[in-house]
Amino acid sequence: MKYAETIVDLVGNTPLIKLNSVTDGIAATVLAKVEYFNPGGSIKDRIATRIIDAAEASGDLLPGGTIVEPTSGNTGVGLALVAQQRGYKCIFVVPDKVGEEKRNVLTAYGAQVVVTPTSVAPDSPESYYSVSDRLAAEIPGAFKPNQYFNQNGPLSHYESTGPEIWNDTDGTVTHVVMGVGTGGTITGTGRFLREVSNGGVRIIGADPEGSVYSGGTGRPYLVEGVGEDMWPGAYDPGVVNEVIAVSDAESFAMTRRLALEEGLLVGGSSGMAVVAALEAARSLPADAVVVVILPDGGRGYLAKIFNDTWMRRHGFIGSATAERTVGDLV
Ligand code: PMP
Repeated sequence: MKYAETIVDLVGNTPLIKLNSVTDGIAATVLAKVEYFNPGGSIKDRIATRIIDAAEASGDLLPGGTIVEPTSGNTGVGLALVAQQRGYKCIFVVPDKVGEEKRNVLTAYGAQVVVTPTSVAPDSPESYYSVSDRLAAEIPGAFKPNQYFNQNGPLSHYESTGPEIWNDTDGTVTHVVMGVGTGGTITGTGRFLREVSNGGVRIIGADPEGSVYSGGTGRPYLVEGVGEDMWPGAYDPGVVNEVIAVSDAESFAMTRRLALEEGLLVGGSSGMAVVAALEAARSLPADAVVVVILPDGGRGYLAKIFNDTWMRRHGFIGSATAERTVGDLV
């Protein structure tokens, strides 16, 4: 008999899939690491498992405890899934800009969702940061994972994502490209791959135009899950060779092409990472092996990136950039 003991045992070991169409004109091999194969549908299942394991080991999370975190998406799903399997409660604090569908996913896994107003300053008592801090302080047995600073985030990628890429490419990987949100993925994956290759693997970040990682101030962008307006403790700039800024228009056009041409229905941060990966790969020789990480699936974005009305309203269809890359979708 072949079966998993629990759903949590299926986190990680995601496949590499060669990109064949969007890579037209590129000599290097470009391989996508497709993280929607994780049971919760995103790369964040990895950090949830590691963070909860570590909190149990340190005694920060005791049997029957409550996990409290400000999160609107993938981290919440990962935490809820692991928490449910191990008998913890979850309370997620989300700003009201987060759509009902996303909140419903969290409650479907058994989490409680507390909604806070988006249009308040981060230091307001009503902000989602303040409310989650208050709940974590008031609820007995509460544990706050604090994904932006928890070092178990990067560690989970050091122990899983990095080794998987090295092993699945038989050590031939030359470049890895990934989006930067909390910075956990790039810090852990990058650190492992640099160490194992003695600095031979080039680590490239992809960042929304305007975010701090590519020199901005946090100007708003619409791609979700990546970019920042502050410097999180989960990010170590020392492991990153280069950061490539990508516009929303380019990210979303590529996200659509991945579904249409490669059969990969993925989220906007995946499109963003592929734009950066192709930019890096364009000048590389045929023996280069570029791995690009696709963090989540596209179903959570059907009403946005895959909706013509939304795309048109934000100027992504009909604009010069979108027309150039979306082609006959315009
Ligand atoms: N893409 C998506 C959709 C995400 O949810 C995240 C996590 N915030 C990332 C990319 C970036 O990962 P990290 O936080 O490890 O930098």
